[in-house]
Amino acid sequence: MGKIEGSELVAQAIAKEGVDVLFGLPGGPIVEIMGFAPHHGVRPIGVRHEQAAAFSATAWGFVQNKVGVCVLAAGPAVTNAVTGAHVAYDNCMPLLLLGGSGPQGGRYSGTFQETENVPMFTNITKMAVQVDSAARIPYFMAMAFRTAKSGRPGPVYLDFPSDVLQEQVDEDQVDWPTGTFSGAPPAGNPESVKEAAELLLNAERPAMIIGKGVRWSEPTEELAQMVESLGMPFLTSPMGRGFIPDDHPMNMGSARSSIMRDADVILVVGARLNWMFDFGRRFAPDAKIIHIDIEPEEIGINRAVEVGIVGDAKVALQQILAEIEGKTEGMADKAEEGPWLNALREKAETNAKSLEPLMASDESPIRTYRLLSEIQSVFPRETIYTVDGQTTLATGRQVLSSHTPASRLNSASNGCMGVGVPFAVGAKLARPDVPVVSVNGDCAFGFNAMELETAVRHNLPIVFIVNNNSGIVGGNLESRMGLPEGYEERIAQFTPEIRYDKLIEAFGGHAENVTDPDEIRPALERAYAATLRGQVACVNVISEPMETMVTSSNRASALMGY
Ligand code: ADP
Repeated sequence: MGKIEGSELVAQAIAKEGVDVLFGLPGGPIVEIMGFAPHHGVRPIGVRHEQAAAFSATAWGFVQNKVGVCVLAAGPAVTNAVTGAHVAYDNCMPLLLLGGSGPQGGRYSGTFQETENVPMFTNITKMAVQVDSAARIPYFMAMAFRTAKSGRPGPVYLDFPSDVLQEQVDEDQVDWPTGTFSGAPPAGNPESVKEAAELLLNAERPAMIIGKGVRWSEPTEELAQMVESLGMPFLTSPMGRGFIPDDHPMNMGSARSSIMRDADVILVVGARLNWMFDFGRRFAPDAKIIHIDIEPEEIGINRAVEVGIVGDAKVALQQILAEIEGKTEGMADKAEEGPWLNALREKAETNAKSLEPLMASDESPIRTYRLLSEIQSVFPRETIYTVDGQTTLATGRQVLSSHTPASRLNSASNGCMGVGVPFAVGAKLARPDVPVVSVNGDCAFGFNAMELETAVRHNLPIVFIVNNNSGIVGGNLESRMGLPEGYEERIAQFTPEIRYDKLIEAFGGHAENVTDPDEIRPALERAYAATLRGQVACVNVISEPMETMVTSSNRASALMGY
């Protein structure tokens, strides 16, 4: 047996985990990890900014149901990914960040790009530690993967001093740990399950809220059985969509205010009652909450629960289904004719109708609602959408539907702009077989627009759409607050009608620029056709700068599309 370098051990560990894609921007001291990767069946994706590396890895992990991995050179390359770690942490998504740092022997002596990386990540990861020797790399990597995907998933940061990566060790002295992860999903307490079943069987106005935490065990059949056997309407969080198809008749997403306000028993699965659900304050004070979450500390945080079930979503739902088996006969039919479902359906229909004129609008400049409605009708059912922005995000929530698990990605719990483009890169690598469409406001697009070049270089045929309203909500700041007389500089209004499509032309992809509503559909069809030929497409759509969003209130959650 010969010698093996630390960097190669890292590449091997990634491959052993079944991760076959690695995101990063090559640079010392991690560049060799990227170099060794393809020798071990891991495809390195060279991005243009480390923030994008972390975002793309997170999206890849969400779509694949695995731990996405990114490598970060050192110093600024590592700090550039701090936002990525924060977004993964805030969204409870697994991610492994592998950062480089100076040699152990040179600490505090002013080595190149010297930083204390571990403390930077401590508060925004499940674990942040430094690896102390090449021989222990397999141990640290196993620990990192286990931590990222165990219980509530989240990001892990491993710091690699350059001498650890460059160290040569005898291959026969490297111990590859086995049996490092128990994949067995935890079951809920049987007593709590019984209580939950009892509440649901006796509810007059039951409802279910589905969050993106269901991603990790994908209980698609169990969720559908719950709503169908009990006649229970449901709504989802922004990324909890598609685990039951949006067009399921029990989906009352269009009547979310009513359902939250009027339900008497609410089953929350894989979602937190944080700002997005107004901390549970929108529920009736006497509504009984059943909360299933894998993280015990989540139960009862902002709103008293009647029953808390600590366990995996799929297992806990199976337990409840077993408990209600044989006791639900006629419930669904009764619900169909009952006042609860009818009132919600009426509300959902009225809300949907109020959007119809906006979606059909032939106004110029183009309305965002019209653009999104055309997108919805051009791309197939199984399309993965990444949606980013403010107007675009809010409107997207109302107009775009999702029908398959993990097919809707956006900034979700975090509200971070800039995720749309790199999330699409990660999603396409995870599911090359389905169309990936990235819909971005122009401000959001700007954060990571250079990743279009990454998409072209790595042959990732994605349709990128820029809803270009020339600024942040069309320059909301100037219009709301005014500016001193004679003050010419603009802050939230960008240069009007920028031709973002020229970017993809420069990179060698398919470009479309749209100014007239009637041009939207043909342009989208041409862009889609280009992706089917293997090209990356960018459609720049000049839209109404002052789009009026249809929101239930001015709460942050409503303005973010919720
Ligand atoms: P959303 O934004 O969709 O509402 P959140 O990110 O707020 O979702 O919440 C996801 C929740 O799902 C977290 O509290 C997390 O602990 C929980 N979770 C993660 N994995 C599982 C699982 N396998 N089973 C049940 N709950 C889970």
